[in-house]
Amino acid sequence: MSLKISSRIKLAARSEGQENTLVRIGDAVIGGEKVAVIAGPCSVESKEQLMEAARAVKAAGASMLRGGAFKPRTLPYSFQGLGVEGLKILAEAREETGLPVVTEVMAPEEVAVVEEYADVLQIGARNVQNYPLLKRVGQAGKPVLLKRGMASTIEEWLSAAEYVLHGGNPDVILCERGIRSYGKLTRFTLDLAAVPLLKEVSHLPVVVDPSHGTGIRSLVKPMSKAAVAAGADGLIVEVHPNPEEAMSDGAQSLRPEEFKILMGELGPVARSVGRRL
Ligand code: PEP
Ligand code: MN
Repeated sequence: MSLKISSRIKLAARSEGQENTLVRIGDAVIGGEKVAVIAGPCSVESKEQLMEAARAVKAAGASMLRGGAFKPRTLPYSFQGLGVEGLKILAEAREETGLPVVTEVMAPEEVAVVEEYADVLQIGARNVQNYPLLKRVGQAGKPVLLKRGMASTIEEWLSAAEYVLHGGNPDVILCERGIRSYGKLTRFTLDLAAVPLLKEVSHLPVVVDPSHGTGIRSLVKPMSKAAVAAGADGLIVEVHPNPEEAMSDGAQSLRPEEFKILMGELGPVARSVGRRL
């Protein structure tokens, strides 16, 4: 191994010859041959909005549904999410479509209720150093999708994963979602080199979020394809039935027809790197 990470990172590090960790969520597997595509709106806004998004992403071939019920917003005046009502809507969408649900949890005391409804607990970029939260999801019975902090180094991010693994939860999925840089035209800078790098130094599956990573709808498709080409085990993509009306992140959300086109174009890219969609 040519890349060296701190020897204090133990559980998240790949030891000599260690196999990739596979995370199983219902019928879906993250880290195997199939590239897992998680798709859905930034926020759950209503039953109608989520159902429409869920049906569309299912029809296009997504393997999981995303949607935020507890939202970390920059300002207190912005839509904060539907909370438990949003979780119930997500569970209804799973019931109808069969898609497992990925949703964010922001506070240790909310883990129990989120775990009751969700299949995967998302830890957002803003909470990657929330140690009480990391400890609490370490004790959860559901897999954790751990976003990279917008200012996290790879080792800081893996150290956060270490908390969850050390807590006893082996099912951690790393999610590259862009880091702060000096460009102003994109929302963040998507660090795709993190994908092959993590594959070398860690055994954990890696997914890429091209939506937050760029903040711009037209960049989502090319960066999704680039992520799969770079070896990502999956993608998490924001899709909204009507992005112009979205209560959060409309500018980076694909329309259902755009998502369908993306799924069609991803297949050949996946096959070119020995994977399938
Ligand atoms: C999200 O997935 O909607 C989100 C808030 O992501 P991040 O934590 O990466 O900003
Ligand atoms: Mn979002």
